[in-house]
Amino acid sequence: MKIPMSSPDLTEAERQAVAEVLSSRWLSMGSQVPAFEGALAQFVGTRYAVAVSSGTAALHLCVRVAGVDPGSLVITTPFSFVASANVMLYEHATPVFVDVDRATGNLDVEQVASAADDLAAGKQGWLPRQSPGKGPLRGILAVDVFGQPADYGPLESIAEQHGLALIEDASEALGAEYQGRPAGTFGDAAALAFYPNKQLTTGEGGMVVTNREDWALRIAALRNQGRAPGDAWLEHTFPGYNYRLDEMSAALGYAQAQRLDELLAKRAQVAAWYQEQLEQIQGIETPQVAATTSKMSWFVYVVRLEPEVDRKQVMVELAEQGIPSRVYFEPIHLQPYMVERFGYRQGDYPVAEELGARSLALPFSGVMTQEQVESVSQALVQALASQ
Ligand SMILES: *Cc1c(COP(=O)(O)O)cnc(C)c1O
Repeated sequence: MKIPMSSPDLTEAERQAVAEVLSSRWLSMGSQVPAFEGALAQFVGTRYAVAVSSGTAALHLCVRVAGVDPGSLVITTPFSFVASANVMLYEHATPVFVDVDRATGNLDVEQVASAADDLAAGKQGWLPRQSPGKGPLRGILAVDVFGQPADYGPLESIAEQHGLALIEDASEALGAEYQGRPAGTFGDAAALAFYPNKQLTTGEGGMVVTNREDWALRIAALRNQGRAPGDAWLEHTFPGYNYRLDEMSAALGYAQAQRLDELLAKRAQVAAWYQEQLEQIQGIETPQVAATTSKMSWFVYVVRLEPEVDRKQVMVELAEQGIPSRVYFEPIHLQPYMVERFGYRQGDYPVAEELGARSLALPFSGVMTQEQVESVSQALVQALASQ
């Protein structure tokens, strides 16, 4: 028996949609990208959507348009996929990490408020010990970790109070809701991502969703080599990028969007099976859903092991049964290049470090069967019992 860590959920109709693009020979800048954008703008509930080549590209363009210039500061989380902090490095700006809430793994909003106050007052305490950046503070980049929205009520107030851009990394949270409001609708703009392990896939791909027309227009120009509306092919109003999404990917995304509710419901079912198998087990903490999360969108299923459990040994024993598992996340501030550049040390963000140290992501996708979930759960229980 071999269970994959994740699998895309694809139908014959979706494969057919890609094949039709290939037969049409119109492989880029055709009708599929706007169709896909329209479908997701409608699903998320934003006025604008701009498809790009990856979630990272979507975040990068948000950061650019937010006016994050060299030396400036952006408050963000160390408990995320590295892309959400790297996009500041692309602009020679400094990510200012703030530790996370123990229950959800999302930004601790009380600490964000203190950091914003202190940085606005010119205090240095939140800055890294090396290469701190001169400021000013330009924005907050929050991440909806594991499909659960960050605490946007307070984050929106802090951003407004200090005149900061607020960017939502909703790459893991398509379909989630915070107090009845959909993920992707918070702040100035949000990034979505469509890598094969995400809730909806295009292979590689991403999208910016926003209600701000100025941001949507600028981002659409920047993804297309800086061509503003009306520019000829070799006319470039801005220094831009090639961050375009191709037509095959967009066709797949559009087709997947037609059954997005089903894709999300299947993942929720798999998470419920895991929950049923694991919530009573000694030594395991199952995912916590905050009171503010009116709808969870299941991206991964990550349990926490008790601190005394030897995680490496558990992972080895699972692997022996053909079951992969992952550490989710290794905190960003302890990645080698972050340590080298900013001088971070173990202990700088203790909650993020603890969550990383105790995390174990189990195989997860919308196409897992109940039997597979039971085998993984039983293997995990056995591995814990043999400690
Ligand atoms: C997936 C993901 C991204 C974007 O990833 P790409 O591979 O560039 O599409 C960004 N942030 C988070 C938190 C993610 O999980």
